[in-house]
Amino acid sequence: MARSCTNLLFGQLTIKRFRRISPSRYTAMQECLLREVWAASGNDFLLPPSPRAELGNIAHRILEAAGRGELKGTGSEEVNERWESLVSEAEARMALSPLRRQQTPLSQSIPDFHVLRLRTCNKAVEIARDGHRCSGKLPKLSRRATGFELWVESDDGALGGFIDRASETTEGVVLSDYKSGAVLEMGPEKYSRELKHVYRIQMQLYAALYRQITETLPVRLEVIPLQGEPIEVVFEPEHAERLLLEAKKFLQVANNRIDAVQDGTMDTTVLAVAIPEYCRLCLFRPACSAYWDARQREIDARWPADVRGILEKSILLRNGKICLRIRQTDSPSLSSIVVRGVTDSVDRHPLLTSMPIGSGVAVYGLQRDYRSCDYIETQNTVIYRTD
Ligand code: SF4
Repeated sequence: MARSCTNLLFGQLTIKRFRRISPSRYTAMQECLLREVWAASGNDFLLPPSPRAELGNIAHRILEAAGRGELKGTGSEEVNERWESLVSEAEARMALSPLRRQQTPLSQSIPDFHVLRLRTCNKAVEIARDGHRCSGKLPKLSRRATGFELWVESDDGALGGFIDRASETTEGVVLSDYKSGAVLEMGPEKYSRELKHVYRIQMQLYAALYRQITETLPVRLEVIPLQGEPIEVVFEPEHAERLLLEAKKFLQVANNRIDAVQDGTMDTTVLAVAIPEYCRLCLFRPACSAYWDARQREIDARWPADVRGILEKSILLRNGKICLRIRQTDSPSLSSIVVRGVTDSVDRHPLLTSMPIGSGVAVYGLQRDYRSCDYIETQNTVIYRTD
């Protein structure tokens, strides 16, 4: 049974079968099933989500509200008020968590906070105005077939999710999804125009589900970034149907493997795919033995800047910061590393004062100083005891 990480302690994390696949998480499930099953089973994150992700949620909620017509009028005043209120709400929640309180205020932890605010509010005003212009002018399909936050589900319930917007145009129905972050793949070419694979799959699955429910084939799928024009997703109905079938099969296979973990035939590592690309963004690294095993096997890969070992020294410096020396038990040479700039505060690091020299310790979310080979605290740094 998982325990809250409010005091930065955690036990065995819970694992439950998936009830269904959400099109927005399907690609992530294909990457590392363990990460997704831990998240879907209701376990608390063990590392802080990025403050940008918090702002992304806020942006999404404002756009939804604009689409549902909750932001009355077409001016920006109401939109700005909603932004302020959602940001305050998020910051109050984050202040209660030892993992996240250092990320507040969001305006200081996110360098382009004001740019994101402006883009979100402009987009919300645009959506609210569109809603006003469109209302009553176009012939309506059934109530289920258009609107914001439209729930679509496969006939067997194996896949389901909310489409951000299904709108009726003179050509037919257009399905849209709003994204607050980067929408293009990071390719070798800086200005690659290719839409992220994950969004292409997500939209195709939405289209297949939409068709199943309404018996209407959308004429266009698009991803709408906060700034710039919508990006069209190439839509091939047969391909979308195939993806839907594949996802249903995937759910069966995934749940069979989860059953095997639950009945003890296999351990959780069979669900894990530990590679730097996936683990870097994973908020369950402290609980993942597959992650630490993979780091030992592939020591030269670009793993996140986490360290684990035995606490050898803890010194309070004149600048008020703590310097830790840790002997890395995972390193073949058992070398020691230094972690600098650690905040001397029980609020920030609840376990720091109760860790005697010789304790097992793991420090996550550091930054590597390549000149000195030391590590430095960041706003995402979290310290756990390992013994
Ligand atoms: S740390 Fe890596 S292997 Fe472990 S659950 Fe997360 S993504 Fe998967």
